Amino acid sequence: MNPRKRVLLAAPRGCCAGVDRAIATVEKALEVHGPPIYVRHEIVHNTHVIQTLEAKGAVFVEETEQVPENSVVIFSAHGVAPQVHAEATRRRLTVIDATCPLVTKVHKEAIRFAREGYDIVLIGHEGHEEVVGTLGEAPDHITLVDGPADVANVEVRDASKVVWLSQTTLSVDETMKTVDALARRFPQLLSPPSDDICYATQNRQEAVQRIAAEADLVIVVGSKNSSNSLRLVEVALSAGAHDAHLVDCADEIDETWLQGVRTIGVTSGASVPEILVDGVLGRLSPHGFADIEIIQSAQEHQHFALPRELTRRTGGSHE
Ligand code: SF4
Repeated sequence: MNPRKRVLLAAPRGCCAGVDRAIATVEKALEVHGPPIYVRHEIVHNTHVIQTLEAKGAVFVEETEQVPENSVVIFSAHGVAPQVHAEATRRRLTVIDATCPLVTKVHKEAIRFAREGYDIVLIGHEGHEEVVGTLGEAPDHITLVDGPADVANVEVRDASKVVWLSQTTLSVDETMKTVDALARRFPQLLSPPSDDICYATQNRQEAVQRIAAEADLVIVVGSKNSSNSLRLVEVALSAGAHDAHLVDCADEIDETWLQGVRTIGVTSGASVPEILVDGVLGRLSPHGFADIEIIQSAQEHQHFALPRELTRRTGGSHE
């Protein structure tokens, strides 16, 4: 074992293009329309981001009914069902849709396959906002499964016309186990035309796998309701980390975790600003973990322009 104390810092980590766009959308809307700007659900699943935007005048609500008529409302990066758009129209709200384009892609796939008469098996977590939104696009055609154990209960109209889609933030390995189980039940199972699990989720999982095998402890920075952050903890443990924990910020690190530890892996979920990772590194440093090695497993160049409701109004395609 290497006697030197060190930190292996995963790269890529932290904010993805969809989260950057969603946060910039709220900031731009505040600038253009002035506060208050209503946001349906947490714009991204990160406590620090939510508190920062609240301080600037964003008001987070659970349902569209809570938004006063004629106000501006932003839909979060996780996407919404068509019924939510209809409700916003009834309330005469000005809608700015910050749904990540990679979630919109899954919605469009669901609409297309439903129109073509397919039964769609959506792999995802029941109750997650993204899943609720995708289900709403074609409720009569979609069955949700949350893992291989659910596959036996799936009922379809025509076993030769079944396609699977997935939530964007799942564990790649766990999802493929479910797909294998589906393919055994439905040999003509069709796959989505391109990966539904997004590039950011896949890159962060590959990055944590690279550091986990050498780590006594992996610290994942992310909020408890962040699906992709929770998956990083699971992936770290299955890739060989002796211990792994999810923390919202440095204050949540329990110093007993550091006992006997020489190598700590650090990463962060796709909704986490880098300032929170800096805080974790700052907390570890006085415990002898000042030696930081970045382990780069992929480069990311993805970028999404602001929603057209904002670019139309401000006359540019900027971010
Ligand atoms: Fe979009 Fe993926 Fe980021 Fe979700 S995690 S906002 S799907 S890029």
